This record gives sequence, C-alpha cells and structure tokens, in this order.
Amino acid sequence: MSACEIVMGIEDLRKEIFSYLRKKAKVECIICKRVCVWDKKVCNYITYKPNIQIQYGIFAGLVFGDYCIRCWGTHGPFGTYGCTIN
Ligand SMILES: [Zn+2]
Repeated sequence: MSACEIVMGIEDLRKEIFSYLRKKAKVECIICKRVCVWDKKVCNYITYKPNIQIQYGIFAGLVFGDYCIRCWGTHGPFGTYGCTIN
C-alpha cells in the first residue's frame, strides 16, 4: 500500500485534504457556466463590470459578469448585431 493510499484511507485526513481543494471556479461564464478560470485560465473570457450603468448604445442592458469568449460573441454587445461580412 502506498503512502497516498494510506492517507486517503483515513477518513478524517481525507476530509481535511479535500476541504482545501477548490469546489467552485474562480471565473465562470454567466451564460453557459463554462469554467473560464479554475486555478489557471482555462479559456478566454471577457469581464463586463463597468463602474456605471451604461444606458445607451450596444452596451445598454447588458448583464454584468464574466462571459466566455463564445458567449460574448453570441450574447454580448455584438451578438444581436451579428458580424456580417459582405
Ligand atoms: Zn459561455
């Protein structure tokens, strides 16, 4: 039996070790809940948290939070306008 197996076999010790591990992502996309940052960055994301509520233009009514790059494209300020190249 390895040292790891012995440690993990002791329930109190195992609980103690797992209590230090992260259960929730540091940054999670508010739309699709994709993990953007766990301990390290997992995927590109945009944090939209302006100091003031923007009332006009394409940012008006946009929900504050973290968006993965995919949702920023579909749900972000440019999503509804699309990006058409003619
Ligand atoms: Zn997303």
